[in-house]
Amino acid sequence: MLEKEEQFDMEKVIENFEALTKDAESVQKETLRKILEDNASAEYLQNLGLSGRTDPDSFKACVPLVIHKDLEPYIQRTIDGDASSILTGKPITAMSLSSGTTQGKPKFVPWNDELFDTTLQIYQTSFAFRNRQFPIENGKVLNFIYSSKQCTTKGGLIAGTATTNLFRDPRYKSSMKAIQSQYSSPDEVIFGSDFHQSLYCHLLCGLIFREEIQWVGSTFAHSIVHAFRFFEQAWEELCADIREGVLTSRIVDPSIRAAMAKLLKPDPQEADLIYSKCVGLSNWYGLIPELFPNAKYVYGIMTGSMEPYLKKLRHYAGKLPLVTADYGSSEGWIAANINPKVPPECATYAVLPQIGYFEFIPLTQMEKTEGEPAMFCKDPQPVGLTEVKVGEEYEIVITNPAGLYRYRLGDVVKVTGFHNSTPELKFVRRSSLLLTINIDKNTEKDLQLAVEAAAKVLADDKVEVVDFTSQVDLSTEPGHYVIFWEISGEASEQVLTQCCNCLDKSFVDAGYVSARKVRWIGDLELRVVRKGTFQKILDHFLELGGAVSQFKTPRCVGPANVRVLQILNENVVENYRSTAFN
Ligand code: AMP
Repeated sequence: MLEKEEQFDMEKVIENFEALTKDAESVQKETLRKILEDNASAEYLQNLGLSGRTDPDSFKACVPLVIHKDLEPYIQRTIDGDASSILTGKPITAMSLSSGTTQGKPKFVPWNDELFDTTLQIYQTSFAFRNRQFPIENGKVLNFIYSSKQCTTKGGLIAGTATTNLFRDPRYKSSMKAIQSQYSSPDEVIFGSDFHQSLYCHLLCGLIFREEIQWVGSTFAHSIVHAFRFFEQAWEELCADIREGVLTSRIVDPSIRAAMAKLLKPDPQEADLIYSKCVGLSNWYGLIPELFPNAKYVYGIMTGSMEPYLKKLRHYAGKLPLVTADYGSSEGWIAANINPKVPPECATYAVLPQIGYFEFIPLTQMEKTEGEPAMFCKDPQPVGLTEVKVGEEYEIVITNPAGLYRYRLGDVVKVTGFHNSTPELKFVRRSSLLLTINIDKNTEKDLQLAVEAAAKVLADDKVEVVDFTSQVDLSTEPGHYVIFWEISGEASEQVLTQCCNCLDKSFVDAGYVSARKVRWIGDLELRVVRKGTFQKILDHFLELGGAVSQFKTPRCVGPANVRVLQILNENVVENYRSTAFN
């Protein structure tokens, strides 16, 4: 495998991408044909009467649009050990656990070798484009990645998060090496049993190899910010370890200790240098390039629910460019960032037409369904990959080589243009994340904008919003929005009252504003939670089998997410009610 990977030729990858995207329509037909042929014996497809037809029209006529719930009975049989061809021709041998941060519990989705291959294709494509703009030398990368536990289901299947399945694949390391991503941390750190110990050692390894580090990143921006916030607490301890050449006693995992012992040597001079660099920084601005002078960029998914972390990330990154990674999910990859110089706020992703069959439900259709969330639109009519229109928003439907057929992913994207004949997508939001009480509809994006506006008021007190989420509280009449904030320091009552009013005023959706005016919706409530509350939510998610690499703070906590609501409410230290509409 390594031999093949060593031949990875970046110009060839770009050439291939150009050729495929020039002919996106036929590539899509071919991709669908292959998926349907390879899986023709699957019970799911057999029951739908395709009878060997593989063209898009027959496919759309016979195969219904589904959501995860529709597939659960099939997936459950597989999990329980039924090895017959249920969703795929070849039996499924592994499952991915999607982050499930929205619904409160992870979902199982099938994983197979074909998904591994598409992952490589997407990584290679974006790396080829990235390396054109930001060439890196043959050094190391500091990638804050963490593998969750892999478990075996009662039917004998391996299950872990998609990133875990990927990292644990024996082909992964050699493949990544070929795209110049040699991690500074040993496997024992990446696969460590405890996230906190892994994080500490990721940082320590980064410091040990700091001159060699070519880029700093993680799967999602949240984990990068989280890592450097932790660095602010632990830097003196890290320096002490380098000075003495002895790992702090807080790391107790024997395999991590053994691996780190091989890397650590006493180096008082280096420790002094790092120490003085940290002391010399003003409020940690530019920390990343200061520590890693040869890093070319900071890399990770930075769009969508990661946007709220950009401000802090930029602060740590100083003048280093922030490059958003690709767009995909546990259900399969979708699109690559081929314009790495574009700032994350404006970034778009070009769909790879050979990695799945993609359809798009125009959002305009969904909005016609009065009063119901978009996911429950009665009879959506998706269009094909090359039929989408610039400027329109769509919900994505994917058909992948691992047993998902016409699967509504639940993401809303906007088409911003085309690269050859494949669309470039801007991630807009999760379609299901909606704050709604009656006639109001506020999305994840609306919430983010409101929080951004109110955070500016908070900045007057030199305090930042560390993380946030929301809830619709119907326990009192009328119902009202609750916004939970964890903040970085002490803010005055006066400023927080202003923040609360600003949040309320910043939801500009006409339904919300009019319902507020007539008190069909009550006064917005801001609940400030104790420091570390969002860390507790993360820990809870890890207990459920999630991985930090895939963690996304749930931006709206539904009633089903009992434990998260409990964590939030147990940690409220102050609360404010808006007077903006009094
Ligand atoms: P998971 O299955 O847990 O990996 O989560 C996948 C979800 O993460 C997607 O459906 C998106 O909502 C979100 N996501 C993945 N990549 C991006 C991206 N580049 N920009 C914004 N959101 C993303």
